[in-house]
Amino acid sequence: MEILKLGIFQLKELYKKKEVKPSEVVSLLLEEIYNKDKEIHSYLYINEKAVDQAKKIDEKIEKGEDLKELEGIPISIKDNICTKGIPTTCASKILENFIPPYDATVIERLKNAGAIIIGKTNMDEFAFGSSTENSAFGPTKNPYDLNRVPGGSSGGSAASVACNLAFASLGSDTGGSIRQPSAFCGVVGMKPTYGRVSRYGLIAFASSLDQIGPITKNVKDNALLLKIISGKDKMDSTSVDIQVPDYESLLNEEFKNFKIGIPKEYFIEGIDKEIKDKIFDILSLLEEEKVIIEEISLPHTSYGIATYYIIATAEASSNLARFDGVKYGYRSKNYENLMEMYMKTRGEGFGDEVKRRIILGTYVLSSGYYQAYYLKGQKVRTLIKNDFENAFKKVDIIITPTTPELPFKIGEKKDEPLKMYLSDIFTVNVNLSGLPGLNLPIGFSSSNLPIGLQIISWYFKEENILKLALLIENKLKRS
Ligand code: GLN
Repeated sequence: MEILKLGIFQLKELYKKKEVKPSEVVSLLLEEIYNKDKEIHSYLYINEKAVDQAKKIDEKIEKGEDLKELEGIPISIKDNICTKGIPTTCASKILENFIPPYDATVIERLKNAGAIIIGKTNMDEFAFGSSTENSAFGPTKNPYDLNRVPGGSSGGSAASVACNLAFASLGSDTGGSIRQPSAFCGVVGMKPTYGRVSRYGLIAFASSLDQIGPITKNVKDNALLLKIISGKDKMDSTSVDIQVPDYESLLNEEFKNFKIGIPKEYFIEGIDKEIKDKIFDILSLLEEEKVIIEEISLPHTSYGIATYYIIATAEASSNLARFDGVKYGYRSKNYENLMEMYMKTRGEGFGDEVKRRIILGTYVLSSGYYQAYYLKGQKVRTLIKNDFENAFKKVDIIITPTTPELPFKIGEKKDEPLKMYLSDIFTVNVNLSGLPGLNLPIGFSSSNLPIGLQIISWYFKEENILKLALLIENKLKRS
């Protein structure tokens, strides 16, 4: 199964040299998924038609035709991204039988580049969570320790890449859902700038925070996928019309005179010592390079979690109003009038965390509390954003830990939502500000659990994140 461990560029090379056929890779991969995923449960749906698609690519190679950028590359997709003709459930009973009649823009772009959609991955229901335990279809396990969570909400996507059950994946990140599971599973995960990637066809959680992004085995693969999914889309008015750089070729440019900021508020008490030590090891490695490292301050950091959970739940409560038993998915069988149909459908269709968030979000938006919570939250959001804007006047890049802790045990926080919410302490502010951020795996704890580092840059400067990430990745390979 060595082939399944390869990165995208290496696999492309093998196709080019005709050393392996796409259909062989897909067959191997499906077999491996059937065997290994019984334990991991990273997938909710496996696309068996992938073999037929791969056979057509075999023929192209046979005829000596050139392959497109992702032709024959099997990619898994988080189950909140619409895939035409393939179930898209958001890991919720309410959408259990929902088959979208259209593709999300990112899926269209992947398909145009020749990618093979290998399956749909498990997640926290409607992307609410940090452990994938909130899936209505059972949790995903961390590939490094089956008693631990893979993080969330894109836990299935990160786990599928980490145990070579996909060559890459797309996840979504509203408060950390790409970066945190990537840190827990030891893979590279990018949350692009808000507006960089179209959200059309992403089932909305909090529309002012959501972004889709790539989860990959290495930095270069991430750059390639980001290039393919990015760019203006007329179907999403919040996508921005700024030219998409050729991220992978920019990676070859030299990285020098960069100023890196280390926010002191991210190295507070309570953060796992091994994580902190590993980050400082990386900073000392970087001192050999042509970079300047300085301490900075983001004074409103500690308001992030409270602000995020007001804004995100407010938006979620509004977005989830559409699931009413009329238009999509599940409808309760026992009701006598319309009101009862709505109530029973939502009562039976949604899990506990979803209900908690709808209640919380409805409360903070209700008249009388709107000003005290929602409006206040929006003002604090601006303060958090201003912190970053001030910091980026002085530095080009900010480095922080991705998570305050190592992957925790399954069940450990399930009944303590506040503890669970704190898992996102280092990631939510990036979403509140709309900035891009990436998790880079930087090694393992003494108990062999992955550790991640977060790299944040100015708006639409993902190439700087990727350059620094590649530099560190290469240095770690050598050291
Ligand atoms: N864990 C965070 C939450 O529960 C973030 C989720 C996400 O980014 N989708 O809201």
